[in-house]
Amino acid sequence: MPENEQQFSSRNDSNSASGSLYVVATPIGNLDDFSQRAIEVLQSVDLILAEDTRQTGKLLQHYSIKTQARSYHQHNEAQLLGKHIEMIREGKSVALVSDAGTPLISDPGFPLVRAARQQGLRVVPLPGACALVAALSVAGLPVSRFCFEGFLPAKKAARQQQLQHLKNETRTLVFYESTHRITASVDDMAEVFGQDRRAVIARELTKTFEQIQLDDLAGLQAWLASSADHLKGEFVVIVDGSQADTEDDASMRELLALLLPHVGVKQAAQIAAEFSGGGRNQMYELALALKSEQ
Ligand code: SAM
Repeated sequence: MPENEQQFSSRNDSNSASGSLYVVATPIGNLDDFSQRAIEVLQSVDLILAEDTRQTGKLLQHYSIKTQARSYHQHNEAQLLGKHIEMIREGKSVALVSDAGTPLISDPGFPLVRAARQQGLRVVPLPGACALVAALSVAGLPVSRFCFEGFLPAKKAARQQQLQHLKNETRTLVFYESTHRITASVDDMAEVFGQDRRAVIARELTKTFEQIQLDDLAGLQAWLASSADHLKGEFVVIVDGSQADTEDDASMRELLALLLPHVGVKQAAQIAAEFSGGGRNQMYELALALKSEQ
C-alpha cells in the first residue's frame, strides 16, 4: 500500500500496550469527544495515572473501563516518578491522563514523559481534545503562527509585566483563564495591548453553554460585564498579534533583504540574529516570509 494511503489506517502496533507510556487526551467537556483507540488503550493498560481519580472515574464509568486509576498530580509526581518508570521498564503499560484535554498542556506529566524518553522507553501519543487547539480552530484570527502562554500570573503586577513582554509579539497569542480572573486579565490586556486589539473569548468549549465571542478588547470587556453568565466556566482567550512593525523589525527586514540574494535563508537568519541579538527562529521566519515575497 502506498505510504499516503496508510494515513488513516486503523491498524497501529501501538495498540498492543506493553512496556509503554501512553499519553492520552480526554474530552474537555463533551464525553463523546473520545476516540475508540483511546478507549481501547485505557482498557488494555495495566495502570492509569490520573490527575484526579474522581474526575477520570466519570470518564472510565461512561466507557465501562475497569482499569485501575491511581492519582498522579503536580504534588506527588516527583515522588512517584521512579516507581512508574520502573513499572514501564519491567514491561508494564501505563496511561497518563489529566482531568480534561491533553496531558502536559498546562497539566501534570512533563517530568514523567521526559524521564521515559531519556531512558529510551516507548512514549505513545493518543491525540484528542485540547482547549487551545479547539479555540484556535474557530477563532477567526490568524493561526499560521501562534504562541501559547498558558495561564497568566495571578498577581496584577506580574500579569501586567508578562503582558508588557508580549505587547509587540506579532504571532497570535493564546491564554488559558479561569472564572476567577477572566475579567482582571481581559482588563489588563486592554490596558497593555490597547482597547482596539482584536481578540476572542472561547468559553465552555464543547459544553452546553459554549460561547465564542470575537471583538476588540473593549468590546470583550463590555461583553463580560453584560451578564454574570459570561463569567462562568472555563476560558481560552486568543489575542491577535501586534500589527505594529517595530523599528527593529523594519531594519531587520532591510538587512535580510540585502543578504538574501547572496546567501541562503538559514545563513541570512543567522547573520541577522547575531547582528541584532534577536532570536534566530524569529529571523528565520522573517527571512522565509521575505524570500516568498521575492
Ligand atoms: N490540558 C488541558 C488542555 O489540553 O486544554 C488544559 C488544562 S488547564 C488546567 C485548564 C484550562 O484549560 C482552563 O482553565 C481553561 O482555560 C482551558 N479549558 C479547558 N477546557 C476548556 C473548555 N471546555 N472551554 C474553554 N477552555 C477550556
